[in-house]
Amino acid sequence: MSDGISAGRRRVAVVPHTHWDREWYDPYQTFRLKLVRLIDELLDLMESDTSYRHFLLDGQLAVIDDYLEIRPENEGRLRALAASGRLTVGPWYILMDEFLVSGETIIRNLQKGILRGSAFGGVMEVGYLPDMFGHVAQMPQILDQAGLGHTVVWRGVPSAVEQTAFRWTAPDGSSVRAEYLVAGYGNGAALPQDAKQLMRRLGALEEEFASFLPEDGPMLLMNGSDHLRPQPWLGRVVSEANALQDDYDLAITTLADYLAGTSDEGLVEWRGELRSGYRSNVLMGVGSNRVDVKQEAARAERSLEQLAEPLSALFVPTEDWPAPFLDVAWTLVVRNSAHDSICACSADDVVAAVLHRYAEARHIGEGLTEQALDAVGRSMAAAGPVVVNPTAHQRSGLVEVIVPAVGDAGPDFQVLSERSGMPGKITLDGETVRNMLGLLQGARIDDQAYVTDCSLAEDETGLDVTMVIGPEPRDGVPVEEIKRELYTRLTARPDTEVRLIIDQPPVRRLLSLQEPVPGFGWSSYSPAPLTHRVRLDQDGPGGPTLINGLVAVTVDPTTGTFSLDGVPGYGRLVDDGDHGDTYNYSPPAHDSVVDTPTSVTVVPGELGPVRAGLDIVTTYDWPAEVDGSAHARTGSRPVTVTTSVELRANEPIVRIRTRFDNPSRDHRLRVHLPLPRPAGTSRAECAFTVVERGLTAEGRAGEFGLPTFPSRRFVQAGGLTVVHEGLLEYELIDVIEDPDGSGPAARTLALTLLRATGMLSRLGMSLRPLPAGPMDVLEGPQMIGPVDVHYALVVGAVDPYEVVDDVLVPLQVSGSFGGGDRPARGTELTVEGAEVSSVRRSSGALEVRVFNPSDQVTTVELPGRAGWLVDLRGRPVSPFEGSFELRSHGIATARIAD
Ligand SMILES: [Zn+2]
Repeated sequence: MSDGISAGRRRVAVVPHTHWDREWYDPYQTFRLKLVRLIDELLDLMESDTSYRHFLLDGQLAVIDDYLEIRPENEGRLRALAASGRLTVGPWYILMDEFLVSGETIIRNLQKGILRGSAFGGVMEVGYLPDMFGHVAQMPQILDQAGLGHTVVWRGVPSAVEQTAFRWTAPDGSSVRAEYLVAGYGNGAALPQDAKQLMRRLGALEEEFASFLPEDGPMLLMNGSDHLRPQPWLGRVVSEANALQDDYDLAITTLADYLAGTSDEGLVEWRGELRSGYRSNVLMGVGSNRVDVKQEAARAERSLEQLAEPLSALFVPTEDWPAPFLDVAWTLVVRNSAHDSICACSADDVVAAVLHRYAEARHIGEGLTEQALDAVGRSMAAAGPVVVNPTAHQRSGLVEVIVPAVGDAGPDFQVLSERSGMPGKITLDGETVRNMLGLLQGARIDDQAYVTDCSLAEDETGLDVTMVIGPEPRDGVPVEEIKRELYTRLTARPDTEVRLIIDQPPVRRLLSLQEPVPGFGWSSYSPAPLTHRVRLDQDGPGGPTLINGLVAVTVDPTTGTFSLDGVPGYGRLVDDGDHGDTYNYSPPAHDSVVDTPTSVTVVPGELGPVRAGLDIVTTYDWPAEVDGSAHARTGSRPVTVTTSVELRANEPIVRIRTRFDNPSRDHRLRVHLPLPRPAGTSRAECAFTVVERGLTAEGRAGEFGLPTFPSRRFVQAGGLTVVHEGLLEYELIDVIEDPDGSGPAARTLALTLLRATGMLSRLGMSLRPLPAGPMDVLEGPQMIGPVDVHYALVVGAVDPYEVVDDVLVPLQVSGSFGGGDRPARGTELTVEGAEVSSVRRSSGALEVRVFNPSDQVTTVELPGRAGWLVDLRGRPVSPFEGSFELRSHGIATARIAD
């Protein structure tokens, strides 16, 4: 029987499970109907048949919450099975994609899973990663910091791994034992009911695995696959199979028990990310389909991680920490991180739901941000605009403020708009005033005008209503009281005259450079002198030029491209065919590439001195679609592409926005960005580190190793830094052989702006012959309609994290009427020596997570702060006071004692 292992018998661990994509080719609610049926059956089966000993509920708690929403009465049954160790849950809340979401989203997912799992007696102590499309370099460190010493992986494992396990090491040196599922998480799915047939199946599998299995080593059979229901005969057939023969010892078990019995000896070590297509598909094209989803993800995550959380943690009273709102927002973001959700390899209805969840999360983030900024304004001692820096780096930046329009604005300012004042008195009849005031809701007139004071007086000649109007809202203005009082008096004297006295000084919206604001700090509005004024020279020698003394951008009016400091060719738009699917790019056999505009017009924008810009308006004839039988692009669609180029005073960053109405199907649009010097490697942001990659990717016949790689907010190569919002796919191209004796080098970075396809999955593609999902025709991924993308370029040595803050997380402005006790300038938190990933309140304390992306040990300075470094379960690791050491590529979470 299964309890003893006699000599020579190969141990076969059977782990019954299901892999539950919460939404994919069907919407969530459609799959949920099936999920409820599955868990209903599972409960009955496990309660009535103790030989069905264990079931793995896919390593994610979301399936339990989804089930209990429909069957709350069964929570006790689930808990009882979990508590007895028969039903395994977690550790994740959802099985996320690792490359297309932020590092914080990955950690919050794990923490949410562990927290929710505690209601079911705790989670599985295995970092289960069965279906993710490759794995980030820092995953071993994340798992290690959550106390998980084991992981189970399938996709992305490279050819260097030739056994069913390896030691997987993160850039900081922490590592986990990784079980490699040679034939995937469904290698033991759909087992036969007959014991003899089961033995034949086992023999075939053993042969398939043979080269990976140590002699007499155990075999892991994952009995389940995508949305498969449990097989009720499993307990019987396993016991019959054991009685039948002496070669194998089968046992229905758990992953954790199986892994506890494995050995670490002789394992090969793999350091860094797992992105090889050598053994299974990594589906690298998911980084560039549905760019709208990737942009919304970036905005939602940023609104929570970099604005709402730090500003609420630092500027609103502790007791007002908006935990329930943040929990709702994070649940939406975490659910969207599911690999088929963020990857958008899904039905159009699914993608619509994903976009809606991101929008709701962002709305919460934006609302909480506004509340925190209002709190700063109310707390200021002095009146006037206050500028808040939501990030760790002290920095300057552009701000827009509304100020009284007095005299000339001066040489360091740009007037964006001006509103003439409305001082004066108008005399009206009661009915007109009643109608006018009826339209006024509270004190807001429009975005730039608020009633800041009002009063009512009466004499025998009539009523005087006085309203003072200013550019910022003010608390406690008695607009509604005055309205009610006025209506009462008008009822008593219906024919009286009403004199409306409006006191509104002229105001202007000014753009200026703010003096540096401390990290996580504030400063009253204080415009800085411009040391590098920017201007637009429309008649520059080589073409219209934006110049600020730090960088010069010159547009070539014939090609529509631009040069940076004399290096030409930036912004070349290259459109080629894509007869692939949501998972993979695939060029048609007879591709045609469009990279030459039919017309170029340069339209001047702002002229400086604070901000200057221009629009490069190009027209193209893009083919309409790919003709599947001719394997060629066919037809023609005119398109106008507007590329806005912006340069600011005092900074070398060139900001680009490209927008157009996509008229074409089955194509890929990339912008080509020349590298100042040829490069053999790129450095791209991924979760909690920067990953260096070469010019090639490992693949196989089943999936070509296309070196299109994901980056989070930035990628660097050859002296160029590209910061982007949700444009996650890049490729180094234009490779020359050995320019300087150090091997091949690329001369161009291609950034994918759009990848438009019409199939969820497809058969017979040139770069991936077999389908990766159902071959459903979809309209959404064609992305017909408006496309609006943003990125920024810097040439030369820069700190990419600082550029990211400047481009993506601008300084925030709030208004103040004074009367509080906050001085003109200061900081709530200083963090130096590492990058900050998160600032929030957790378990009542201020919690700061940092990481060290450098190759050297760093000292993280938290002046005036003390507390404990904690692991990802909040367990204390070591105390700190004022500072602590952080190893190269380490992640640390500091819980600060208030
Ligand atoms: Zn899946």
